[in-house]
Amino acid sequence: MYAEIVVNHPSRAVDRLFDYEIPKDLEDKIVVGSRVIVPFSKWNTGKEGFVLRIKQESEIGDKVKSIIRLLTEVPAFKPDMAELILYMHNRYLAPLIDIVNAIVPSGAARQIRMVTLAVSQEEAEEFLGKSRSEIQKRMISVLMDTERIATADLVKFSGGNYQALNALLKKGIVQFFEIGIERSIYDSKSELIKPNKPTEQQQKAISEINCAIDDSLPHTILLHGVTGSGKTEVFLQAIKHSVNRGRSALVLVPEISLTPQMVSRFVSRFGKRIAILHSGLSVGEKYDQWARIMNNEADIVIGARSAIFAPLSNIGIIIVDEEHSDTYKSEMSPRYHAREVAIERARKHGAVTLLASATPSVESYTYALLGKYQLLEMNKRYNESSMPEIDIVDMREELESGNKSMFSKSLYNAIKENITRKEQTILFMNRRGFSTFVSCRKCGFVPQCPNCNISLTYHSYDNSLKCHYCGHKQPNYAVCPACESKYIRYFGGGTQRVEEELKNLFPDATTIRLDADATTRKNSHKEILDTFVKDKIDIMIGTQMVSKGLDFSNVTLVGVMSADTMLHINDFRSAERTFDILEQVSGRAGRGDKSGRAIIQTYNPDNYAISLVKSHDYRSFYKRTISERNAMWYPPYSEMICIRFSGDDNDITRRSAFLFRDEFGDINKISEKIALLGPIPSGIPRIKNKYRWQILIKCDNADTFNDRLIGALNKVKSDDLLGDVLIQIDKNPINVY
Ligand code: ADP
Ligand code: ZN
Ligand code: ZN
Repeated sequence: MYAEIVVNHPSRAVDRLFDYEIPKDLEDKIVVGSRVIVPFSKWNTGKEGFVLRIKQESEIGDKVKSIIRLLTEVPAFKPDMAELILYMHNRYLAPLIDIVNAIVPSGAARQIRMVTLAVSQEEAEEFLGKSRSEIQKRMISVLMDTERIATADLVKFSGGNYQALNALLKKGIVQFFEIGIERSIYDSKSELIKPNKPTEQQQKAISEINCAIDDSLPHTILLHGVTGSGKTEVFLQAIKHSVNRGRSALVLVPEISLTPQMVSRFVSRFGKRIAILHSGLSVGEKYDQWARIMNNEADIVIGARSAIFAPLSNIGIIIVDEEHSDTYKSEMSPRYHAREVAIERARKHGAVTLLASATPSVESYTYALLGKYQLLEMNKRYNESSMPEIDIVDMREELESGNKSMFSKSLYNAIKENITRKEQTILFMNRRGFSTFVSCRKCGFVPQCPNCNISLTYHSYDNSLKCHYCGHKQPNYAVCPACESKYIRYFGGGTQRVEEELKNLFPDATTIRLDADATTRKNSHKEILDTFVKDKIDIMIGTQMVSKGLDFSNVTLVGVMSADTMLHINDFRSAERTFDILEQVSGRAGRGDKSGRAIIQTYNPDNYAISLVKSHDYRSFYKRTISERNAMWYPPYSEMICIRFSGDDNDITRRSAFLFRDEFGDINKISEKIALLGPIPSGIPRIKNKYRWQILIKCDNADTFNDRLIGALNKVKSDDLLGDVLIQIDKNPINVY
């Protein structure tokens, strides 16, 4: 017997399957998904490998080498994933080992041995003062910041070694434990809640979905349900139907919607059958969840993007909530789109893919209209409560009438009324920090990041300037470094600026902020939301985080500080993103018995992406957008491939892009429909000191050109001078600037 194996060796040159013989004594132990050690290269170094296929014969005959041993009894993945890995390899042109690493949790890639401090933080502090071993000190510092960590991770992150770790163990400063002890995320005492009685619209959707599950053939269904229509109840009942039939269920939600509130709605219905996967879990916690799924203890999985790889068997339904969300696209290799992988995975399982959104992606809606997906609609809110009333405020008029504040008169009045009525308000500001950029009023100087072509953002709490791309931070200028004038001015605004202005306007109101700066501590997201409800905070100010998934009945007013921030980004999806976010964020208002309203401030009140929010008219919005896409030959009419180049030297980076284009071939001679733009410098030509160039290709089918792309890539990579330039191939990128 022979196995086809992906070898864990990070080189494009070995990016293929290798044949190995399975030793007789391992024949009944090695399966698709097994993790093994194989002899590799002419030196026969032992390398980790993953079995993708098993077969009777090998074409390479006598020269075939033998697997050395099995690394772990439990396979790294279930057999169905092998086909998915090959699909992704072809679709996303990612190295096989990158894909394997993405689907196998890092915990499972090791013998999991965890380490924690065996002493108090104070004693550890004392040790740092006394010890003379730099390595041991580094390891302890890392441990003091993390509750527990896999030994291998500790060694990696601290630049330490196992000898030093063992020395620390002997001194009694650290302790080891094996994982496998389940650290429960559930309150075992709480009782399960019974299903709600569905509304007529919900019932219709549920019946259609259940019918598709019973069919056991792949179906893709798009559920277009307005905000507050009760999509979650539909999910819960469809999941119940699937698990009643002995088939598992997978729910994907954007990371920021994976709020404790949303998780508890699932846990309170299904209890311990649920596993949760998200980036906030520690390595050990992630591994626990993964192992429970692998052992079939949990048959319902909720998670963010990478949960699409959860090792479930016999899947009945895969739900992709907020299916339009960009966060489903991975920006690291493998550059997959979880929605696309979901459909492929469901196809293999004869399962239903349920895509759901109040503002479906233009792509999915098109496929639904074409009949490729089944379209289900819920156009009423639960309890028939009305959709929030929308006021669009023209900020140019405010300025003309002498109002220079960030708040229009109508938003100011509405907040004031809400405070007196003791109803709550959410203010949406799509930018954190204090202001967009800082500039000298006298000479026009704008402080730029030294590493990126981006202006710095002012943060008031520590009077610093920060780059949101690379994290560079510096003290703010007291005087202009160019002309020494004292007139530094702040333009635009971020969440912090909104909060400060509110304090001036409404000194007695209580406020709370929900953004990346406020939620860096673990759990503080939950704490902020809990406080908002419990303490009846008058106003919550936040970024994207407030736009999704929140369901608070006492929120009756939503204010959008500036609807324009996304509109002018040079990307063909900017109108779609603007409409989505405005519809989502205004949908947070009036979800309870009281009716809600949203006030949208803008300098572009006539732009259709903004004006159509007033009537919540997704259809009209879609029609406008799709005709633009058609005219410009953009997705879904075409597929795109973006090839990005980045390197330390601008000229070398540019030359690698041109060589790539020449090697790709003359597009006039390629018979398929294709357009090639570039090479051009990327929208932000330098990030973290790397120069960036790009080529953009539009075509009918991006998979047609795989050989050309890989050929051109290998040519540039093998060039002595240009070989160090980093090249990414990104099919259907979400950012094309
Ligand atoms: P969506 O995700 O479509 O925006 P939700 O699923 O959050 O909407 O539902 C909105 C609100 O209506 C929630 O508070 C939910 O508990 C409630 N709800 C929805 N359907 C029902 C039902 N059938 N019975 C009782 N409450 C419901
Ligand atoms: Zn100046
Ligand atoms: Zn920077």
